[in-house]
Amino acid sequence: MTHDRQFDVAVVGAGLVGAAVAAALARDGSTVALLEAQAPPTLDPAADLDLRVSALSGASERLLRGLGAWDSVAADRRSPYRSMVVWDAAGAGEVRFDAADLGEPDLGHIVENRALQHALWQAARAAGATPYAPVAVAALDLPDPEAPGTDPPAMLTLADGRRLAARLVIAADGADSKLRALAGFAIEGAAYDQHAVVAHLRPTEAHQATAWQRFQADGPLALLPLADGRCSIVWTTTPDHAAALLALDPVAFGAAVSAAADHRLGALTLESGRARFPLRRQHAVHYVAPRIALIGDAAHVVHPLAGQGVNLGFLDAAALVEVLATAKAKGDDPGERAVLRAYERWRHGENEATLQAMDGLGRLFGNPSPAMAFARNLGLGLFDRSGPLKRAVMRRAMGLAGDLPSLARGG
Ligand SMILES: Cc1cc2nc3c(=O)[nH]c(=O)nc-3n(C[C@H](O)[C@H](O)[C@H](O)COP(=O)(O)OP(=O)(O)OC[C@H]3O[C@@H](n4cnc5c(N)ncnc54)[C@H](O)[C@@H]3O)c2cc1C
Repeated sequence: MTHDRQFDVAVVGAGLVGAAVAAALARDGSTVALLEAQAPPTLDPAADLDLRVSALSGASERLLRGLGAWDSVAADRRSPYRSMVVWDAAGAGEVRFDAADLGEPDLGHIVENRALQHALWQAARAAGATPYAPVAVAALDLPDPEAPGTDPPAMLTLADGRRLAARLVIAADGADSKLRALAGFAIEGAAYDQHAVVAHLRPTEAHQATAWQRFQADGPLALLPLADGRCSIVWTTTPDHAAALLALDPVAFGAAVSAAADHRLGALTLESGRARFPLRRQHAVHYVAPRIALIGDAAHVVHPLAGQGVNLGFLDAAALVEVLATAKAKGDDPGERAVLRAYERWRHGENEATLQAMDGLGRLFGNPSPAMAFARNLGLGLFDRSGPLKRAVMRRAMGLAGDLPSLARGG
């Protein structure tokens, strides 16, 4: 089959996860094409913070530092949080996590997605990845794995007729991945009957570099500390309530958030636009087939209540990079099923465990029965005083424990 260019790896989707894996693979010496449906991201340093921000773990920070993308995000677009307070609307139970308990400087950072995506694009380009943006992928041809004696690459046909050959295609094109559909991967999951409302508000009380999260029957409200003193909220609620919140005038919206936050931070004033996102749970049954691997939201979509989605995606990226480096050292073909299965075995179970934990937490806090509320609040109090158990949970959430790939350990 003829082609215009040949690469070791073609990454489709240059969101946070796709741009990160492209940067890492190019840095390791692979030839990498980075294909994105949107125009390359731009960043106006004078523009207000975008509505989309992510809570990133220490493991994600280490990976981003390794790629040279962390310091490119301006200090006013990332802010550390040193504590987290979680409480139940239906009782007095409360858990407080402090980085100081583990001798760490912070629990993680709240980072603007747009600034980080811009930094990762720059890192990918600096490492030598070839960007194609904006482009549309029209077709994917994967070689027949059973064909004897041949070793053809995968072929991507773009809408403008260009054809790119690659020994491995990485689908990082998000929750509605076209590549995943073209390759015929099955997915499991369903929509949560919930939407997440996001906005930035200014509290009258200082946020104390603390992430605040109040669990309510319809879903949690999170208030994440921003560098300029505002809080970025993620309010998960029913679709009807989310629509009603967006229709409120700014003063009434601020009052609604202040009340839902138990007035913990005083009164909150809306100082941004507002948006809402429908939420779903989704997991690909398999992540790999000969010459293709799924990563990030193309592989799994997790409830945002513990802010894990992009952190899991970065760990996928780091694990895949490590598996491919090992294969390269041995002279193995990066698109071989046996090579890619090592990545799938590493990440599928870990991601499924997080998906299930988020479901469990949602059900636990969504149960309105008084008996359940009593047990829950008792449990929260016990957990808060549980010392070793609490520290173990913190270490895992902060990316200090678990089967971490070398890039996420700072290697
Ligand atoms: C309200 C909310 C809050 C969240 N908060 C957090 C948080 O605090 N912490 C956290 O870790 N996670 C959080 N998440 C999850 C996180 O946003 C996602 O997990 C993350 O953005 C996934 O990144 P990705 O690169 O895999 O996919 P995406 O961000 O979806 O990127 C996919 C990219 O592929 C491109 N693309 C799509 N189709 C094609 C195509 N056919 N060809 C080429 N390119 C294509 C898109 O334009 C896009 O650039 C949150 C999610 C929501 C909804």
